[in-house]
Amino acid sequence: MTNTIPPSSPPAASATGRSFNELPLPPGIQATLQQLGYLNMTPIQAASLPLALAGHDLIAQAKTGSGKTAAFALALLTRLNPRRFAVQALVLCPTRELAEQVTQEIRRLARFEDNIKILALCGGTTMRPQMTSLEHGAHIVVGTPGRIIDHLDRESLKLDALNTLVFDEADCMLDMGFYDDITFVAKRCPAERQTLLFSATYPEGIARLARQFLRNPQEVKLLEQHEGSKIRQRFYEVKHEERLHAVGILLKHYRPVSTLAFCNTKQQCRDLLEVLHAEGFHALTLNGDLEQRERDQVLIQFANRSCSVLVATDVAARGLDIAQLEAVINVDVTPDPEIHIHRIGRTGRADEDGWALSLCSTADKRRVASIAQMMCSEPEWHGLNALQNGDDAPLVPPMVTLQILGGRKEKIRPGDVLGALTGEAGFTREQVGKITVTEQSAYVAVARDIAVEAVRKLSAGKVKGKTVKVRALED
Ligand code: ADP
Ligand code: MG
Repeated sequence: MTNTIPPSSPPAASATGRSFNELPLPPGIQATLQQLGYLNMTPIQAASLPLALAGHDLIAQAKTGSGKTAAFALALLTRLNPRRFAVQALVLCPTRELAEQVTQEIRRLARFEDNIKILALCGGTTMRPQMTSLEHGAHIVVGTPGRIIDHLDRESLKLDALNTLVFDEADCMLDMGFYDDITFVAKRCPAERQTLLFSATYPEGIARLARQFLRNPQEVKLLEQHEGSKIRQRFYEVKHEERLHAVGILLKHYRPVSTLAFCNTKQQCRDLLEVLHAEGFHALTLNGDLEQRERDQVLIQFANRSCSVLVATDVAARGLDIAQLEAVINVDVTPDPEIHIHRIGRTGRADEDGWALSLCSTADKRRVASIAQMMCSEPEWHGLNALQNGDDAPLVPPMVTLQILGGRKEKIRPGDVLGALTGEAGFTREQVGKITVTEQSAYVAVARDIAVEAVRKLSAGKVKGKTVKVRALED
C-alpha cells in the first residue's frame, strides 16, 4: 500500500499542457501564478476550475498532491471583494497541520492584493488572539470544525456575508468523526452560496454530505492520474540495540543515492556516524559545533551527490533544502507528529518517489499511532529480517567533490571550472556535476570514476589562467 502525505512546500503536482491563461482569472492572479512558477494547470485544476469559476457546486476527487488547494483557492479568490470587510469564504480542514498548509497556499496565491486577510482558526491554541484577529476583520477563514464551532457559539465569527464554503480533505474529516460538526457549521452558512467539496477518496459519507449541502453538484473524479509528490512510508520495528545497525540494512536494501537520517540527539548522530563509517558508508553529519565553512562543505557534498547519508538532528537540519532526496530515515520516531511530517516531507519532491523509513521500538508505537492519525493513513509495518539477505554490494555515491582552492575572491566562476574540465582536460559535460563557488573555494562534483584523473589534470592545468591547488574531499 502507498501512503501519501500532503507535501509541505515544493511545487510537486504534475501539470497538464493547459495554461491558466485560458481561465477567466483576474490579471493579478495570472501574474502571481507566473511568479510562483505555476505555468500549467494540474489535471484536477483543469477539470474543476472552469466549473468552479462558472459558479457550480462541485465534488472533486483526486489524490493527495494533485493541486486541489489551488483549485478551490483560485475560485474563491476570484469571487472575493477585498473592499468588503467580512468573511466571504470558509474552508473546513480536518487537522491544524492541513489547515495551516491551506492557509499558506491561499496566502501565496493572494499576493496580488495586499489587503486580503486570511485567518487560520484551529484548536490547540488559545481563543483570545483568534478573537482579536476576527475583530480586525478577515476575508477568508480556514479552520478545523471544532474551533469554528467555538467561534460561532461565541459569535466571534459571523458568516452572513459568506459566499463560498469549502470542505477540504472531506474523506479525512469524515474519518475523524466530524460529520455532525460539519453539518452544524454548514447549517450556519447562508443558503445562497457556492459549496466545493474536495477529497482524495470517495467513501460513502461523502455522497450523504453532498446530498445534504451541495446543489446540483458537478462531479470531477481523477482516479488514476499520476501523483505529484509520492512518499512511501514504512515503519520497521527494532530492538533498541539494533537501531543503528538497522540504518545500514535499510540503506543496502533501498539503495537511495541521497538519504537524510534524523536522530533525536547529537550523541545519537555521533554514534550513528561511527557505525556507518565502520560499515563502509559515505556519511557525514551536521551539528552545531561545525564552523560555517565546514557546514557549507558538508552541505555541498551532500547536495551534489558525493555523500550517501547525511546524519542530523532536527535543529541541525533546519533550513536545509535538498532538491533530490531519495529517502529520509528516522532513526528514532520523534514524539511530535508535526515534526515527523516535516521530516518526511523533504523527500518525494519534484515528481520523484521518496522513501520515508522509520525505526521504532515497541515504546515508539504510541508515537506512530498519533502520526498515523494526523496523516489520516494506516501505518505500514515491515520487518527487517526480510531485507537482510539482499544485495550486499557497498553503497557508493555516484560523484566525488573536488575542492579547488580559489573562489569568488580570485574571480573564479562556475563557468571557469566547467571550462577547465571540459576544455583542456577533455572530460564531457555529463561527467561534471554541480559546481558551487564560495568566497575562498570552488567545489565541483565529478563522476567517481574520473575523480583521480580530474584532480591530476586540474592541478597540472589552469583555471582562469592560473595554476590552482585541487583535492578530492573523501573520508
Ligand atoms: P492536494 O491538496 O491535492 O493534496 P496541494 O494543493 O497541497 O495538493 O498541492 C500539492 C503541491 O503542488 C503544492 O506544493 C502546490 O504548491 C503545488 N502545485 C499546485 N498546483 C500547481 C501547478 N499548477 N503547478 C505547479 N505546482 C502546483
Ligand atoms: Mg489538500
